[in-house]
Amino acid sequence: MSDDFFHSDMQFFLEHRIDWAPYLRLKRPEVTDTASEIEAWRTILQTAGDICAELTPLARAGWHDEVKLENGVVHVPEHIARGYDLFRRAGLVCLPVDPRWGGAGLSMFLNSALLEMLAGADPSLMTIMGLQSGVAMDIEKYGTDELRDYWLPRFTSGEVQGAMDLTEPNAGSDLGGITTRVTEEGGRFFIDGSKIFITNGGCEVHLVLARDAATGEQSKGTTNGLCLLLCPKTLPDGRPNGMRVSRVERKLGIHGSPTCAVDFDHAEAFLLGERGNGFRAMLDLMNNARLGVSAQGLGIAESAFRQARNYARERSQFGQPIIRQPLVKSMLTLMALEIQAARALLYHTCTLVDRCDAIATYLASGRTDADLDRAALQQEYEHAHQLVRFFTPLCKFLTTETANEVARRGIQIHGGLGFMAESAAGQFHSDSIITTIYEGTSEIQASFALREMAKGALFTVLADLRSSLEGLRGRFPEQSAQLEGGIAQLEATLPSLLGDPSYALLNAKRVSEMVITVVVGVELLEQAVLSPERTVLASAYINRKILEVEMHARRIQSGDVTRLERYDKILGLTD
Ligand SMILES: Cc1cc2nc3c(=O)[nH]c(=O)nc-3n(C[C@H](O)[C@H](O)[C@H](O)COP(=O)(O)OP(=O)(O)OC[C@H]3O[C@@H](n4cnc5c(N)ncnc54)[C@H](O)[C@@H]3O)c2cc1C
Repeated sequence: MSDDFFHSDMQFFLEHRIDWAPYLRLKRPEVTDTASEIEAWRTILQTAGDICAELTPLARAGWHDEVKLENGVVHVPEHIARGYDLFRRAGLVCLPVDPRWGGAGLSMFLNSALLEMLAGADPSLMTIMGLQSGVAMDIEKYGTDELRDYWLPRFTSGEVQGAMDLTEPNAGSDLGGITTRVTEEGGRFFIDGSKIFITNGGCEVHLVLARDAATGEQSKGTTNGLCLLLCPKTLPDGRPNGMRVSRVERKLGIHGSPTCAVDFDHAEAFLLGERGNGFRAMLDLMNNARLGVSAQGLGIAESAFRQARNYARERSQFGQPIIRQPLVKSMLTLMALEIQAARALLYHTCTLVDRCDAIATYLASGRTDADLDRAALQQEYEHAHQLVRFFTPLCKFLTTETANEVARRGIQIHGGLGFMAESAAGQFHSDSIITTIYEGTSEIQASFALREMAKGALFTVLADLRSSLEGLRGRFPEQSAQLEGGIAQLEATLPSLLGDPSYALLNAKRVSEMVITVVVGVELLEQAVLSPERTVLASAYINRKILEVEMHARRIQSGDVTRLERYDKILGLTD
């Protein structure tokens, strides 16, 4: 059962697809035995997989259970408390934090694999633990020594959890609308205002984005002049701070994840990073959180797929298991392909994040190994970082839309049983919905990806893909030709996108999907080089998706801004 969580794709990436030796050389030169290190990571993931298998029955049985607010205290359902306790007792909390503060310095890929497993078992618990390590990592990066030494050991021991407080009634996708303010009084900072939809809002440590009152008038309506602050529920001297949860929401899914309205009444807080530059610091947390939610979407999709496949094997109609029906088989195959594609993009992106992190660690260390060229590493960092900025929104877009699609098909495969309140298929569907909304909606992700393309990332990616295809052509001539055709189609659409920004935005999802297809297609072929049995999957994906690339290209090239005018007429928006 635990193999359902620590599955063969994860093992393939851990042991074959990623070359860990160069990573360790830059990031942790003290490690001399790469194989033992990989074995240690394998043990961590296997243990996490075992815990996921153990907590799954409780999470399935309790998925309707709601969070409660009593006398200002937030109470989570039993499956959340018990699941958290299992991870905490196993020492598997906040593992990305540096070992200096009790973490394991887990890389992005490994943490993402852990979050994927956790989401497959209990998507609500995943929100709490994912945020906990994200918040801790932001404190590690932007906190003073004093804040780090005080808080990080409490995070890694599991004593405290974290929340990220951005959203307000008039500041959702557009954080320029934030009005919660922070005032400096004699070198101390105090927050006043209200936040809504805060995941785990009853927890001890909040990272709050608030507008600096000193420059509030000038910065109003923009993301300038925002400060990132650590606001604890209890002050270091033991006094309660001026913050409270005023409401917990009832929702369509992730019922066990507390979603809270939080009020700040002159709550004392501690600056993280530079004053007025908090949005930049928060972006780090948000980008990590976007990859975290991608892992969440993937974990939900994987569990929904396994549940549906098992059911289709067992359920008989017309004298045979329904998995033998071509239409059911095709739904399941499509689910499997979509999951593999989402996983390929997410794992590939995580590997790039890890490469950036390893290079940055080396460059910051002042080490000068004779055979390492610092200038070349700096150049490689900039290249990989550009790709990470581009691929992160694409990952969030792809994996979470995939989670929605896969979970919905899972219900269809269960027939009437899928519509019953207690069905696990229903849970996956309900819990998947939020993933395309929080940490930036799919529309926002597609528009971010478009912005990165316009800044030059697309040309970098296409050049990289062409060079990879050079190496793949001999082995996979047909699939490589299809992908080269896809790249040419993508390039041919660019002139149509350059003229009008509104028209480009209108097509942001289409062009994102085109990019995803060629990037994922090449990644799947690279995987097939290492593991030839993966060729069938790569071919099926490329055959199916390349047709969609052609369709998108035709649609983008044939249209113009008059399409938006037509939409205005249909929606009655013209005067
Ligand atoms: C369960 C849950 C947990 C959450 N947890 C947290 C948390 O821990 N911390 C936190 O700070 N926030 C949290 N949020 C808030 C969440 O991040 C926001 O709901 C989300 O960013 C969307 O903002 P909004 O709801 O105001 O929607 P809006 O911004 O009003 O968007 C509404 C619609 O308009 C579209 N739209 C808006 N602008 C554009 C644009 N420029 N281009 C194209 N389409 C656009 C959106 O895609 C969406 O379809 C949570 C929300 C929920 C529901």
